[in-house]
Amino acid sequence: MSLILADAWLITMNARRDVLERGSVCVEGDRIAGVGSRALLAHAHPEAEIMDCAGRIVMPGMVNTHTHLFQTLLKGLGDDMALKRWFTCMTGPSAVHLTREDAKTAALHGCVESIRSGITTLVDFMYVHTQPGMTEAVVDAFEETGMRGFVCRGFMTTGQEHDVPAALIETPEQAVADARRVIRAVNKPGGRVQAGVAPCMIWTVDETALRLTRQLADEERVLVTTHVAETHFEIAEAAKRYGRTDTEFLSDIGFLGPDVLAVHCVHCRPHDIRILRHHGAKVSHNPCSNLYLGSGIAPVPEMLTAGVTVGLGSDGPASSNNHSLFQAMKFAALIQKGAHQDATVMTAEKAMEMATIDGAHAVGLGHEIGSIEAGKKADLAVVDFGNAFMAPIHNPVSAIVYSGLGHEVSDVMIDGRFVLRDGVVLTQDEHALRRRAQLCADALAARAGSARFKNRGWRSTAI
Ligand SMILES: [Zn+2]
Repeated sequence: MSLILADAWLITMNARRDVLERGSVCVEGDRIAGVGSRALLAHAHPEAEIMDCAGRIVMPGMVNTHTHLFQTLLKGLGDDMALKRWFTCMTGPSAVHLTREDAKTAALHGCVESIRSGITTLVDFMYVHTQPGMTEAVVDAFEETGMRGFVCRGFMTTGQEHDVPAALIETPEQAVADARRVIRAVNKPGGRVQAGVAPCMIWTVDETALRLTRQLADEERVLVTTHVAETHFEIAEAAKRYGRTDTEFLSDIGFLGPDVLAVHCVHCRPHDIRILRHHGAKVSHNPCSNLYLGSGIAPVPEMLTAGVTVGLGSDGPASSNNHSLFQAMKFAALIQKGAHQDATVMTAEKAMEMATIDGAHAVGLGHEIGSIEAGKKADLAVVDFGNAFMAPIHNPVSAIVYSGLGHEVSDVMIDGRFVLRDGVVLTQDEHALRRRAQLCADALAARAGSARFKNRGWRSTAI
């Protein structure tokens, strides 16, 4: 069956970056069959159903290059802490008490939240394996919600001296063997959901694990993702352990390559950026999380000038506190303008590239998704700009990046199939899911002893 989304503001993100006023796109099966005028497409596809998209923007579904879906249950518990304290006092203990049911519910809720704000591809970084089947729980959530993307089997192999909970630490051999098992079970050629591998960071993963990860990636040809240069603490730990930056160390042991998605890179110096470029490694930029944790501002303009591919990420909702790439795009543009005192240093167009086509390239899917072009997968977001925030409209790209809040997304298609239609999520009972997520979140916070709002001083002094 075919469908023409007709007469929209069409943001194609094709090589010419065409933005068509009253543009239309024809979808056949799971792919885009054509882009052009309504008349032209209707003539070429007379059988196609027409969906009138006047008053709407049609854009490529966005690619969120970094999240930890389980943290959907931890929104608001980590306020006002730097990363190490945030991890060892809240996120780590919460992870220890996470059940398989929690992981599944959190992932379902995070996928629905993502779909609602126009995200069609996610990279999840799942490092909690306190029970069997935790990675599979996230895979199931991708399958059930219709989400595209990568479930990367994360792990930690060290870090007890820095209060990483023992329950989260595995041996390198165990972790990599389980990653291989998951990859072989999940990955099929052309599959919508794929597994990858994700060593956590330089102070929680040892050299053996990193070397085994490289070997695994070479043998199985999968996406590798890891946190790099996120905080000063991380840089200091790399210097103490290896006498180098983490980027230099990863390069020296042969870890870096075009299949590596380096997350954050806040404290990468020019030399580190040249190293990333040299190896063809990609970067996931997570501006909201980097600001929330007080980690810093990543040198994204410098990376782009050096020729590094940079995608956008939300990071886990324990440090961002949602999955909105609308917010990530706006922050990505504004923090650079402010930091450089230069309004031209990061444009709305660049922010949108990072959220779509650059993100697609960052995860190795640039040939399949990230733009609206004939032959590509039909992953689309429809945004209704008939609302107080986005109207009146002059420039649809600016309207999305600077004016939109995300809830204006009315329809989302992944693989040619609507997962959100007229504001209704089609793949989940959203209200039941939200109730379940709140119950899981309440019980998890109680088990982990997390300080929820009612226990915090501000409330008691305010009453
Ligand atoms: Zn992360």
